[in-house]
Amino acid sequence: RAPATKYRRVMLKISGEALMGDQGYGLHPPTVERIAREVKSVHELGVEICMVIGGGNIFRGLSGAAQGMERTTADYMGMLATVMNALAMQSALEGLGVFTRVISAIRMDEICEPYIRRRAVRHLEKKRVCIFAAGTGNPYFTTDTAATLRASEMGCEAIFKGTKVDGVYDKDPAKFPDAKRYDEVSYDEVLQKNLKVMDASAIALARDNDKPIIVFSLDEPGGFRGILSGEGTYTLVH
Ligand code: UDP
Repeated sequence: RAPATKYRRVMLKISGEALMGDQGYGLHPPTVERIAREVKSVHELGVEICMVIGGGNIFRGLSGAAQGMERTTADYMGMLATVMNALAMQSALEGLGVFTRVISAIRMDEICEPYIRRRAVRHLEKKRVCIFAAGTGNPYFTTDTAATLRASEMGCEAIFKGTKVDGVYDKDPAKFPDAKRYDEVSYDEVLQKNLKVMDASAIALARDNDKPIIVFSLDEPGGFRGILSGEGTYTLVH
């Protein structure tokens, strides 16, 4: 298959949990910095980078902590959690000398920029890493859908989904040693077999807008850059 070097503008989606290290909750600064270094190494290739970070390390609308709360309120709390993660990533990236903008789907002008599509595109052209926060701004969605939506709006050529494993498996590789990794898989097969890539609305949106999803391991040092240079293992969903 063709190497991924053809990508000039990409979306990196990571879950909030990717930032918590072994703590089980919240932000683990050395882990945030490690991921920021991975992003920086890709930025140095000249690739324009969008990021969406989840909020599950702090709050999730459907989590236990939300019990009894109205769903929409809990979802807004989840969206606020993603803003905190975005600010942590911004701080780590800027500590490494990478210019960034945090762009929120919900206005909070003292903290970050509001989302204005043309302005965000301009930031990318100026090689600023754009971190899209507050999900889609709507309850009942996830940050996977936000990543797919922003990737489509920004004209990203691919969505990189950083996970704990190096691709999509037919069953959980942590539980089943005989789990098989897909090299490539279609959107429809992901939906039919309910494979763990992204939630169904995100997959459908990626399919309808022709955005390939590259599932790779964030734990592999240099993995993100490697794939952009045509190396490494990953699963291509297309
Ligand atoms: N959320 C939302 N709308 C969005 C994106 C996120 O309501 O467009 C809320 C939702 O409650 C979700 C939480 O924010 O559970 C955190 O996002 P997500 O679960 O996608 O984070 P991740 O699992 O990637 O860490």
